Amino acid sequence: MDFSEFIEFPIVDGHVHFIHPEHLEDVAALLDRIGCARANLVCLPNPDGTNQNAAALYFKERYPERIYLSGALEYAPALTDPARAPEILARQVAALEAQGFDGLKLIEGKPQVRKLLPYPLDGPLYAELWAALERAQFPVVLHVADPDEFWDPVACPSWARQSGWDYSDGSYPTKESLYAEVDHILERHPRLRLTLAHFYFLSRDLPRAARFLDAHPNVCFDLTPHVDMYTDFSRIPAVARDFFLRYQERIIYGTDMDTRVLQRGAPGTQLILSLSWLIRAFLEKAEPFTIPGNSKATAERYHGLGLPPEVLAKIYSANFERMYGLVK
Ligand SMILES: [Zn+2]
Repeated sequence: MDFSEFIEFPIVDGHVHFIHPEHLEDVAALLDRIGCARANLVCLPNPDGTNQNAAALYFKERYPERIYLSGALEYAPALTDPARAPEILARQVAALEAQGFDGLKLIEGKPQVRKLLPYPLDGPLYAELWAALERAQFPVVLHVADPDEFWDPVACPSWARQSGWDYSDGSYPTKESLYAEVDHILERHPRLRLTLAHFYFLSRDLPRAARFLDAHPNVCFDLTPHVDMYTDFSRIPAVARDFFLRYQERIIYGTDMDTRVLQRGAPGTQLILSLSWLIRAFLEKAEPFTIPGNSKATAERYHGLGLPPEVLAKIYSANFERMYGLVK
């Protein structure tokens, strides 16, 4: 997989999952290979009440100049003291900042997680947290919703079902109810520095994506792929290109690379390289393309946007740095 054909630029990957400390040098090598100067490690809460913050701090200690840290909340102290829980979560903003974190990561809007932590994002548990985040201008990467197919018992892919992402039994929040929660939060806290992961799962509805970005001028979308995101864009390359030009200040590069995928060995590494190559080719190439040497994806034909270098510079780093500042 050849990345040398792409523009040479100090890219920031705004969305990397680093869970396994033993893969530290593998991830550093992958970032080099893809041409990423820096990465934002986004930490998740674990089902056992712990979180992934320690692994990210370990990476930061080894490569301080390359790493931004987006911490996860710690739920155990809050959920064991329900009366004070909103305040306990809110106080974690200052605590994370004091530990050297640059921002917060919330996966709490993913339906699977929202069912495990059944607290509306716009409800009382998080009310003080959003206020604290807005006050401190502490950036947040937020995952809300999932691809439409995951709510459809027929269309839901088997790999998604195996991961617990089949939401068709009616016991999960709907995509629209999750979007409504985000609207309420942004009505109350319009100055939040918010990045919505996976293009907010609106790749099939660019008019709606545009209305949302127009209504919330401080919000960005990241480019971490989901199932069909880049095929969605490639179906309407001219419309997609107009969108990316119009919202060139609101889009943040990210791969979603994950050490859980590296655990699968060489095929895992290959998958990460393929997806990273896809995103860069989509942004930079001005013509149709296929992913080299990738058996599933070669069947798919993508169409690049051929964005000009000054727009790529914003998507690859300037938009992220506007939200997060330079690396500390
Ligand atoms: Zn992610």
